[in-house]
Amino acid sequence: MRKPVIAGNWKMYKLIGESIESAVSLKPLVANAFHAEVIIAPVYTALRSVADRLDGSNIKVAAQNCSVQNEFGALTGEIAPVMIKDAGCSHVIIGHSERRQFFAETDETVNRKVKAALGAGLIAIVCVGEDLASRDAGTQNVVVEEQVIAGLNGLTVSDMERIIIAYEPVWAIGTGRTATPVQAQEMHAHIRHLIAATHGNQVAEALRILYGGSVKPENIAELMACEDVDGALVGGASLSAESFAGIVNYTG
Ligand code: PEP
Repeated sequence: MRKPVIAGNWKMYKLIGESIESAVSLKPLVANAFHAEVIIAPVYTALRSVADRLDGSNIKVAAQNCSVQNEFGALTGEIAPVMIKDAGCSHVIIGHSERRQFFAETDETVNRKVKAALGAGLIAIVCVGEDLASRDAGTQNVVVEEQVIAGLNGLTVSDMERIIIAYEPVWAIGTGRTATPVQAQEMHAHIRHLIAATHGNQVAEALRILYGGSVKPENIAELMACEDVDGALVGGASLSAESFAGIVNYTG
């Protein structure tokens, strides 16, 4: 049985005080969510303060990005995965479509970041997903397949225990347009088959594959009803503690 993961990506929203306030408000709202792992990803500057406030709770903290290396060095503006771990995080989101789109992140940098994150003892939430043109052209499976293969290149079976994949069709992120449960299930099953081919059935069966793209309290149950959907990566609807808790506490 795969334990679902519900992760909130706060993107570049909330100052430190607001991040603490949201995290503290969320705590009692999800305190009984034993059915799922709950993760929030505030901005870098708020990580330490939020992680301190959540210490001892069932909410874990993730960063939204990391550097490609753990070694300290002259890389102005970068944050190494070891520093993210040091700030109290257990997870890091890697290869979000906004990073690919606006910061020239490639499958190769995603792969380097994944390896660095694992090297620091973090769990990597690796994002993949096709854009609208690929979906319209019917090439979404090929696009996602390439991202998965390249992003996870060189990872061992034991590395895969600390990988979570988030399938986030770019056309569904922040647009209010969600993939249908059928579309989500199709892609998640495709990714799981792919991982079975690269790392074996046991790894594929244990792998959590999250859906991301305009997930809300109103649509989480139908997505979670899909056999291969193991949780959600939530952007906009994670900014309010109440709406994020509504997603965490979905009832099937
Ligand atoms: C995201 O940022 O990962 C995301 C899925 O955003 P939204 O839920 O707002 O579509």
